[in-house]
Amino acid sequence: MPDIAVWNKCDNKCIMCTNMRSFVLQNPRQYSLKWQIKKFEKYLKGEDVYHKNADKSSYISLTGGEPTLHPDFLKFVAYLRKRVPDVQVTLLTNGKKFADQEFAKKFFAIANPPFEIAVSIHGSTAAKHDRISGAKGSFHRTLEGLKNIFRFSRGQKTEIRVVLIKQNISDFGDLVKMLLKKLAAARDYRVVVIHYEIEGISFENRQKIALRFEDSSFAIMKNLNFIKRFKEFRLYHFPLCVLPPVLRRYAWVTLPKEERIYTKKCRGCVLRKNCLGLMREYYKFFGDAEIKAVSK
Ligand code: SF4
Repeated sequence: MPDIAVWNKCDNKCIMCTNMRSFVLQNPRQYSLKWQIKKFEKYLKGEDVYHKNADKSSYISLTGGEPTLHPDFLKFVAYLRKRVPDVQVTLLTNGKKFADQEFAKKFFAIANPPFEIAVSIHGSTAAKHDRISGAKGSFHRTLEGLKNIFRFSRGQKTEIRVVLIKQNISDFGDLVKMLLKKLAAARDYRVVVIHYEIEGISFENRQKIALRFEDSSFAIMKNLNFIKRFKEFRLYHFPLCVLPPVLRRYAWVTLPKEERIYTKKCRGCVLRKNCLGLMREYYKFFGDAEIKAVSK
C-alpha cells in the first residue's frame, strides 16, 4: 500500500523537510476528501495513482504536509478503517494537533488498530526544537500531543522519530535523556533515529544542515546506555559499516532500491545482504569515503 500525501500544508517549517517548496502552493482541491477517496478507490482497482511505495501491500503511510491539518482528516481515517480495516496504517505527524484533547479522543475512537502514530521531535528544549521546526511553540505542543497520545491510545502504537542533522547532533544525548525523563511512558514505545535525506527543502539547505554518518554514528554510540532503556530502538538510513558492530542490529532497510546505491567499495562485503548501502543523494554530496567492505 502506498504513501498517501493527505494534505499539502504544514504548521512547521522544518529546515530538513523533504518536500519541495512548490508542494504547499498546489491547489488544495486535489487533496479534498472527495478526491482522496476517489484516488484510493482507483488504487484498489489496480490503477497506478500513487508515486511512493505503491508496490507495498502490507501498510499505508499517511504523510503531508501535516495530515492532521486536513479539514476532513478524521473522516478520511474513518473511511480507510472501514475500507481496509486489516491494513497497518502509519500516521506521520508533528504531533501538535494531538495537544487538543478533544481531537485526540476522537482520533483514537476512530483509528482502530493496526494503527501507528509516528511523531517527530527535533531537540531537547523549546529553543533547540523550535529553531529546527521553524515554528515558535511547536516543542511544547508536540510534547503535549505525545502525552495525549499516550493517554488516549487504545492499542494503537506510538513511535518517536528523531531526524539527525548538523543543528541537533550535539543535542542528541540531551534529547534522549529528555524523552526518558519527560515522557516516562515513551520508554514503552519505539524510538527511531533517522539520518536526514537530501531532498526537497533539505536539498536546498544541504550545505547548512550537512552531517556525516560518522558524526551521527559517534553521537548514537556515546548514548547507547540511555538508548537501551527504550523498549524498541531503530536506526534508519545507515549503511552498516559506518556503525560500530553493537549498533548494527538496530539498523533497518527502509528506502526503495532506486534511492540507494552500493559502490565499488561494497564489493565482497559480507554485510551487503542486510545493508541499505548509501542513500544516492548522500553519495552525490559526500562520496563514499566513510564506507568499507566488511570481510567477516
Ligand atoms: S561496504 Fe557497502 S554493503 Fe558493506 S556495509 Fe558498507 S555500505 Fe553496506
